[in-house]
Amino acid sequence: MGSVKDYFSSLGTGISSLVKGMGVTGKEFLTKKVTEEYPDHRKEFEYAAPRFRAKLQFIYEADGRNRCTACGTCQRNCPNGTISITTKMVDMPDGKKKRKLDSYLYDLGSCTFCELCVTTCPFDAIEFTNDFEQAVFTREKLVQKLNYLPEQPNDPAPKPGTPVKPAAAPAPKAAPAAPKADDSENKKEN
Ligand code: SF4
Ligand code: SF4
Repeated sequence: MGSVKDYFSSLGTGISSLVKGMGVTGKEFLTKKVTEEYPDHRKEFEYAAPRFRAKLQFIYEADGRNRCTACGTCQRNCPNGTISITTKMVDMPDGKKKRKLDSYLYDLGSCTFCELCVTTCPFDAIEFTNDFEQAVFTREKLVQKLNYLPEQPNDPAPKPGTPVKPAAAPAPKAAPAAPKADDSENKKEN
């Protein structure tokens, strides 16, 4: 008699847990889906967080003008020499000469995405895009020229006398090896 009672008891427990499980399944079935089908629907979904730091880029105005004055602040603050800026002197309509940005090279392969360059830029000239699809086949292609649009006549220039220092020299890769225990022993013997 006891075994019949156990049978119906466990049958009730099974049905109860089945109903509970189906309830969870039904709830998830009706909940709005968060899974994004990538890369099939990449145009329809926001597939990376807006603040995700994928790559540095220039902020361009509607007329194609960039805001970079080639002041060199970002280059000096970058901890690992990821940014390389070169400048040139140009003749202005008033006969004066001005230094302007010639080339702004950014090496995505060495960037640590610390955003120091963006936060210290005094002209809000650069920003991070969240476009993470940056895969390439060679490391050379990771070095990108950010001022890729043709120079505009009204592109900004640094004030006369603003220093543009070269990037800091890279730190030595390895410290000299410590003398081996055997060597010190030999010296003692000598
Ligand atoms: S700090 Fe800003 S304005 Fe100065 S060189 Fe860098 S991007 Fe250009
Ligand atoms: S995010 Fe950091 S490492 Fe990358 S370029 Fe800017 S300062 Fe350099």
